[in-house]
Amino acid sequence: METIAQALQQVKRRIDRAIADAGRAPGCVTLLAVSKTQPAQRVREAFAAGQRAFGENYVQEALAKIETLADLRPGLEWHLIGPLQGNKTRAVAQAFDWVHSVDRLKIAQRLSEQRPADLPALNICLQVNVSGEASKSGLLLAEVASVAQAVVELPRLRLRGLMSIPEPMADLQAQRAPHRALREMLAALNAQGLALDTLSMGMSDDLEAAVAEGATLVRVGTAVFGRRG
Ligand SMILES: *Cc1c(COP(=O)(O)O)cnc(C)c1O
Repeated sequence: METIAQALQQVKRRIDRAIADAGRAPGCVTLLAVSKTQPAQRVREAFAAGQRAFGENYVQEALAKIETLADLRPGLEWHLIGPLQGNKTRAVAQAFDWVHSVDRLKIAQRLSEQRPADLPALNICLQVNVSGEASKSGLLLAEVASVAQAVVELPRLRLRGLMSIPEPMADLQAQRAPHRALREMLAALNAQGLALDTLSMGMSDDLEAAVAEGATLVRVGTAVFGRRG
């Protein structure tokens, strides 16, 4: 069976090839290893293989893992990529380095108020519902600019960019369309005077399409840790 170290190497090779195909600069894409449902020991193995950034979806599960792996801090970076409810913001503001799933101003305000003074500003991405489907979470494209302009004013947050989770599609060209829309949204915000540097898009099945469209961070679970049970 493939080890985590081998799987990480393979994913990095896919990313590097996609970067080269797109004519982008080597090293311009961060690999976020999505460790939801994986036991702490698997995260420790990935860390030992050199992986530093880890993504979690479920706050309760993540907090337990963060505590178990406290000895790996500050080298290990924790990113929340799953839905965040108002009653969990305090714990998240205390324990995480990044939150990718901010989809309303109220949540951002609470995170800013609750971010401990002795920690650096919390890195934030706004989650965008690019396809506009009612069933999906995330800001609509039409709402992003006004929320972004409000979030950059919050003192204990650092707005870094945008995140999306498009519908799965089999074909590379079809996969590229929603990623392109997110890239264009980021460019529009920067044209309005923001200085955002992060496009969090692409997962195990569509990372090539995301990198082709300018992803700076891909969130990869299955291809690193195997199928979730
Ligand atoms: C689970 C998850 C991922 C990783 O998905 P894989 O297909 O396993 O790579 C990425 N982003 C989010 C928001 C997720 O929930």
